[in-house]
Amino acid sequence: MSERCLLRGIAASHGIAVGRAVCLTGPGLHVPHARIDPSQVDAEIERLRAAIAASRQALEASRESLRGAGSELEVVLDAHLLMHGDELLVDGCVRSIRDERINAEWALARTIEAICAQLSAAGPVYLRHRAADVQQVGHDILRWLTGTASPLPELSGPAVLVAEDLSPAHVARLVDRPVLAVVTDLGSASGHTAILARALEIPAVVGVLGISRMAADGDLVLVDALHGDVVIHPTEQECARAEERGRRYRRFTRRLRERHATGSAVTKDGVPVRLLANVEIPSEAALAAELGAEGIGLYRTEFLYLDRAAEPDEEEQARVYADVVRVMAPRRVVFRTYDLGGDKLPDADPAFRSPNPALGLRAVRLSLARPAMFRAQLRAMLRAAVHGPVDVMVPLVATVGELREARRHFDETRAELLARGLALGSTRFGIMVEVPSAALLADALASECEFFSVGTNDLVQYTLAVDRTHPQIAGLARPLDPSVLRLLDSTSRAAHAHGIGLSMCGDMASDPIALPVVLGLGYETLSMPYSALPLVREVVGRIEARLARRTAEEALRMGSADDVVALVESRFGKVLGDLWTEEGLREPRASARTTGARGAGRAATRSEERAGDEDRTRGESAATAPADGSRGTRERS
Ligand code: PEP
Ligand code: MG
Repeated sequence: MSERCLLRGIAASHGIAVGRAVCLTGPGLHVPHARIDPSQVDAEIERLRAAIAASRQALEASRESLRGAGSELEVVLDAHLLMHGDELLVDGCVRSIRDERINAEWALARTIEAICAQLSAAGPVYLRHRAADVQQVGHDILRWLTGTASPLPELSGPAVLVAEDLSPAHVARLVDRPVLAVVTDLGSASGHTAILARALEIPAVVGVLGISRMAADGDLVLVDALHGDVVIHPTEQECARAEERGRRYRRFTRRLRERHATGSAVTKDGVPVRLLANVEIPSEAALAAELGAEGIGLYRTEFLYLDRAAEPDEEEQARVYADVVRVMAPRRVVFRTYDLGGDKLPDADPAFRSPNPALGLRAVRLSLARPAMFRAQLRAMLRAAVHGPVDVMVPLVATVGELREARRHFDETRAELLARGLALGSTRFGIMVEVPSAALLADALASECEFFSVGTNDLVQYTLAVDRTHPQIAGLARPLDPSVLRLLDSTSRAAHAHGIGLSMCGDMASDPIALPVVLGLGYETLSMPYSALPLVREVVGRIEARLARRTAEEALRMGSADDVVALVESRFGKVLGDLWTEEGLREPRASARTTGARGAGRAATRSEERAGDEDRTRGESAATAPADGSRGTRERS
């Protein structure tokens, strides 16, 4: 008997598809553990090197087949190729084999585990994703070591790929394959599998715990990558509806891009809104420029540190920063100084380790503790101002003292460069407001810098005491909570009163449900992933600024995020929801009733569904995950 089974995950690459499953063996590899004699050490190291070379060769072949297919894909594959030669990885394995006298597989597994522990112990979500990359590269090599490396199976027809996880190398091989959608147990909306699926425009739902155990080859699977729902054995009626919605969605996105490929954003009543892009990898700057970004509002420079043991020197940084400024000029680029800390330090200096890294020696604190590193970075950033306007922004400022000390370094570095005769263009100094103390002291801080940029990801984390990296409490991290809104309000008022720049660069800036409140609180410069620009242009065009201001005032007096969401939905007709309704895309979510004894999870409650809906607009939906991590609900058909 076929049993209808609904599972929920994260809509990582939008679209809808129905097709037969092809299941790939996941990365749950068996790692043989063996102790070796001293006489076997050299042979074991040789075996390891041969596996790395084979894995690298396979990846290079994928890279070659992709040339020109999409820069995001190429960037990811290049990163994976670099990791194959990474000193930490290769030397770590060799040391383990030599010192601990263990076989190559065991040494590799241990080394990967140690690197991932360092990367994932702390800090921003995107560093945790680098841990996922390291793991994927490790698994690729492990497959060659254990002789289980296999290409993707030949697909005899259009298929839904189901796997525990897919490495970017796997996803890259999907180019020109008849893949309708991808569903994985693991992953997150901003992980590389998701990035690649979006680049290839393949609908993907990730984080669907249990899917690879439940689906079998040939099962009919409905993938609703708008809601993040996956149904195994859907009903005929469900399939027909889904296929129609899929067609409408494709027409909708085509029209959105045609209408909003570039151009400025203006509210319904004529208030201009500046849209900027967030950048993590230098090549994203060109894509942002193509999609009409009016500047880079956040350049996360710590990305330069990834996959290397030593910090990049001033010259290398200066080259990278200058390239980005040249691409964007005459538009402004906001460089953020390193947001590193705790175990994220590549040189793993034990002095910076912290049991609670989010509250540890992080970001500006770390920069101030390492003035030589800070000065080198400031010089590199300011040198780029020869090519166009540059802003320097310091993350995680919590006190006026920190601002003053960082500013002193900035002023002295600038004076030093001018004394050297450098023709610096316009440069400004600003801070991120992402700690509640900074929002509360915004008045005092505003008189000593030229701009604020609000990092809502951290502001929400610190205000509501919700670890932003913890999947099971992701639903509690609600930017529309009135406590967060009051901090946004005090920050905005202080910036306006002092006549300094104000922008928002956290995820809230591109969250369609939050946008009316964000605009209403006086945030008219928004920075976001470049891919969100067309949608945000459309949403802004549907918001009346006057009504947004009144709505924000009311929201500030409310008691809960649920109340604020209800208010926004009643006033703005669920801004994004309306867009979808017009396109015939929105409809009640697939039923989550649990009737079968084999129900792995439980039905989502109404308030969870709501939190989940709000999350999904931000690309997360972990709110509906039961405490045991399972997400499935089943019913007999
Ligand atoms: C933020 O905290 O909102 C932000 C933009 O910075 P990051 O996500 O890099 O911490
Ligand atoms: Mg932050």
